[in-house]
Formats: sequence, C-alpha cells, structure tokens
Amino acid sequence: MREFDAIVIGAGNGGMLAANALQKDGARTIIIEKHNTPGGAAESFCRGRFEFEAALHQLTCLGTEDHPGITRKVFDELGVTEQVDWLEMPNIASIIVPGQITFPLPSDREKMVATLSRIFPEEKAGIEKYFEVIFGVMEDYHALLDFDYNSKDPLARMNPDATAEKYPYFYRYAFMPLPQFFAQTMKNPLLIGALSTMAAYSGPVPECTVLDIANWTYYYMEYKPYHVHGCSFSFSSALMESFRRMGGTLLFNTAVEKILVENGRAVGVVTEYGEEIRAKEIVGNLSPMLVYQNMIDPKDVPADAVPQSKGYAIHSAPSQVFLGLDCEPWDVGIPDTNNFILVPEGRIIATCHDVADPSVRGSGKCTVTLLLSDLGVNWLNIPPEKYFEKKYEVAEKMLAIAEKAFPGIREHIEEMEISSSVTNARFLGAPGGTIGGLKIYSRDYVLFPVKNDQIPGLTFCGAWDNNPGGMHPSMMSGWNAGHEAARRILGK
Ligand SMILES: Cc1cc2nc3c(=O)[nH]c(=O)nc-3n(C[C@H](O)[C@H](O)[C@H](O)COP(=O)(O)OP(=O)(O)OC[C@H]3O[C@@H](n4cnc5c(N)ncnc54)[C@H](O)[C@@H]3O)c2cc1C
Repeated sequence: MREFDAIVIGAGNGGMLAANALQKDGARTIIIEKHNTPGGAAESFCRGRFEFEAALHQLTCLGTEDHPGITRKVFDELGVTEQVDWLEMPNIASIIVPGQITFPLPSDREKMVATLSRIFPEEKAGIEKYFEVIFGVMEDYHALLDFDYNSKDPLARMNPDATAEKYPYFYRYAFMPLPQFFAQTMKNPLLIGALSTMAAYSGPVPECTVLDIANWTYYYMEYKPYHVHGCSFSFSSALMESFRRMGGTLLFNTAVEKILVENGRAVGVVTEYGEEIRAKEIVGNLSPMLVYQNMIDPKDVPADAVPQSKGYAIHSAPSQVFLGLDCEPWDVGIPDTNNFILVPEGRIIATCHDVADPSVRGSGKCTVTLLLSDLGVNWLNIPPEKYFEKKYEVAEKMLAIAEKAFPGIREHIEEMEISSSVTNARFLGAPGGTIGGLKIYSRDYVLFPVKNDQIPGLTFCGAWDNNPGGMHPSMMSGWNAGHEAARRILGK
C-alpha cells in the first residue's frame, strides 16, 4: 500500500493547482487522473490536420508583466508563465448582428466607451455611467473583502471599516438586479444585448446582479483576455511539468472509485484497479455530489454533507460544433477571436483562435468553434437511440446561424466534430455535463459560501467549489485548497 501526505483526485485546472501548492509547500503529493492527459476541460484534440481547443475561449486574470493578475503571479511562482506562449486579445469579443452591424467590445476601458458611444451616440452618458459603476463596484469589492476564494467564513473576510459612505458603489449597486441596472443606464436593446453577453458566463440576465456582470467585465478589461498558442493544453502540461519538477507523483489512466473514511476522517482512496492509497489529506477536483453519493460508504457521509448543494442548480452545459476550415478566417468574414452572433432565434459564440495567433496566419486553414449554452437535463432526457439525431439537429441549428454571420462557411468545412453536454459529462465526470459546477451567483459566494468540508481530511477544489466556474476561479480554488491542506498536514 502506498502512502503520501496528500492525494489530489483529478488533474483539471483546480486539481493541478492544488497539487502544485501542496508539493511546493513540502507535502508529498500524488495526483490520480482517470484520463491519460492533464487539464480536464483545458484540453485539445485533433481531427485530420486540425488541433481543436476543447474549452478555453479566453482566460482572465493573467494581466500583463507590468500589471499582473493573480493567475500570472501564481504561474510566475511555478515557473509556468514563461513556458507558455500567451496571446493577448485586444477585444473581449465582437458582436455580430447578421446583415445589420458588427462591432467590437474592446478590452481597454477608454476604447470600449469610445466605440460604444460612437455606435450609440444617444446613449453616451449611460455608457459612461455603466462602466463607472462596473469599475467602482469591483474596486470597492476588492477593498471590502479579503480576496480569498476559498475562505469559508464571509464575516472573517469583511473589512471592519466597511461602510456605505466609504464603498458607495458596492453598497448601492453590487446586488442590484441586472435588468434594473440596465433600465437605469440605457435604452437601446442592441446595446443592452451586446453588454449582456458578459453575463453569459454567470447565467441569464434576469437571474444576475450587477456584481455578476461586473466580475466578468472588469477582469477581462483590467487584466485582458488571453488565449495561448497550442491551446489551453499547453498550460495544463506546463502545470504538470512544474509539479513533476518539484518531485510530485502522477498516476494517469486511473479513476478513483472509493474514498475511505475511518472514524469520521478521510484516510485514503481505492482506485479502479483495487489499489489502496493512503494520505493525511485528500483534495477532490470533482463534484462533491458525486463523491458523497457514489464514492463514500453511506454510513460515513455526515447528514449535513449533501444538503447544501441541493439548493443549487448546476451551471450551463454547452454543446459545441468544431469546424476545421480550408481557408483563412477573413476568407469567410470572421472578424474577431470571439464573436457573439445575435439572431432572433438565439445566440451563439463563434471562436476562431487563429485570429489571435499570428503564428498560424497564412496557413490556409483555421478552426472555428460554435458554442450554444444548453441545459444538461435536455440532453439527459434523450433516449440513446435518438442521441445522434438530436446532436446533428443542434449542430445544424448552430451552422445555420453561423452561415448568416459568415456566408459561405459551410463550403469550407474540411473536418467537423460535435460535442454535447453528454460528451462533457462522460469526459469530465461532471453531473449534467456542466462546465462550471454548481450555478453559483456572486450573492451566494460572497454572502453564503458553499461548504464542503464536513468530512475531516477531505476538501474540494475547482469549479465545484465556492465560485462561479471558469478556468481562473477553478485554478485559484485549487491553489488555496492546496495551501490550506498543506498547512493542516505540516502544521504551519
Ligand atoms: C466548452 C467549454 C468552454 C469553456 N470556456 C471557458 C472560457 O472561455 N474561459 C474560462 O475561464 N473557462 C471556460 N470553461 C470552463 C472551464 O474550462 C472549467 O470551469 C474549468 O476548467 C473546470 O476546472 P476543474 O478544476 O473544476 O476541473 P475539470 O476540468 O472538470 O477536471 C476534472 C478532472 O478530474 C478528473 N476526474 C473526475 N473524476 C475522477 C475520478 N473519479 N478519478 C480520477 N480522476 C477524475 C477528470 O478526468 C478531469 O480531468 C469552458 C469549459 C468548456 C467545457
């Protein structure tokens, strides 16, 4: 039987950062991953002569050398930053209303305000107010709370000087319903639709508050949106290498089937091959719902372990169409890396990383990914014999929308692959195929943090932790969970 200080289950973004933090702090750590590669969602795959990004549209909180975000600071500590060829994007996205208008949403605040004010001159004052509030709320937020994603006690995180006079934007706007904020600042439905796309990473506009949209908008503007040459897999493998350099142990192609609990404490795991591996601390980079329901003997699951997550729905579970085109992006009129195509029948994101990556320009080919947010439950209700029919039906719907924005795109398709929430569920082991864990809004993670620490020795990290999901939040959750576990193991 092997023994370590810590076991990390799953090598997704969260698991990788947890394992790196543990090993860096001096805890002997093993990562156990069911696939043969690291990264979880941060992966790529090949079809024909194309490599497709499986998930990342844009990474937030990297920032620049002069103005680093948290992700860069952590990657610097691990020696990962310089191993990856980062591609900064000048725009968060472009908005395309086929046949009517195309305009960018620049990541620079001044350019953003100037661009939108030029297109919607009658809304200039409202646009200025909108960004004043977005930035004001986030600056207040940082001053108000100790910015530690994994801190479970919101009161302990509160700045004792917190008053409405001192932090007026936060007090007045942070938890204002988003539709009310839009109604106060602007009228044009297209402008509201364009800015609303930033809420897409949290949830539908009627369910969001100002803090939800401020989070995404501010971080992408303040720390810039990034993609990477060689897809997100390049930083997944750099993280794996940094863990290995520090002496960490990796066990791939091995699923954990059981978590062992003795006298109320998690003490080890059993793999699919029956190997028992023991440790003082276990960090799960997977859904606590699955763990409590399937991986621990029911007699060892405390009564308060499951209920909290029952109050939440799961985050979105998108379908994607991956297209390998035999042309350059501009041959079919793709203006930007990320493009929100708005049509009466729905909204899709069309992402073409070749626009941001100068090293692949002129190669006569490019990849485009079409994404439609979907609820996993729609797919899970489909009988297996109808699955392919449904998958092609959804793909056809997305292609029809793409064709409106990029006429002639179909004629350039050389390779095509489709993924649904069933694909995500199978690959990641995520219930419902969600990509963001529980559907957690800012009011939840600020005021009512999810706690999954009911079994001593077992904690969780990644998109299922107390955050809205996404690569940066998952990584920071892992980094904090790893350091906290190391402190418990090493007593410092
Ligand atoms: C299509 C798509 C688009 C996205 N776009 C963006 C974006 O533009 N920007 C952004 O920031 N985020 C984006 N995301 C979200 C982001 O990728 C995820 O929220 C984040 O990567 C989740 O990381 P995680 O640490 O929770 O782990 P996951 O990526 O879910 O990885 C979990 C790992 O655990 C392993 N595992 C599970 N169960 C077991 C077990 N029993 N034993 C061993 N191993 C196990 C899995 O194989 C997997 O490797 C997107 C995701 C998808 C799918």
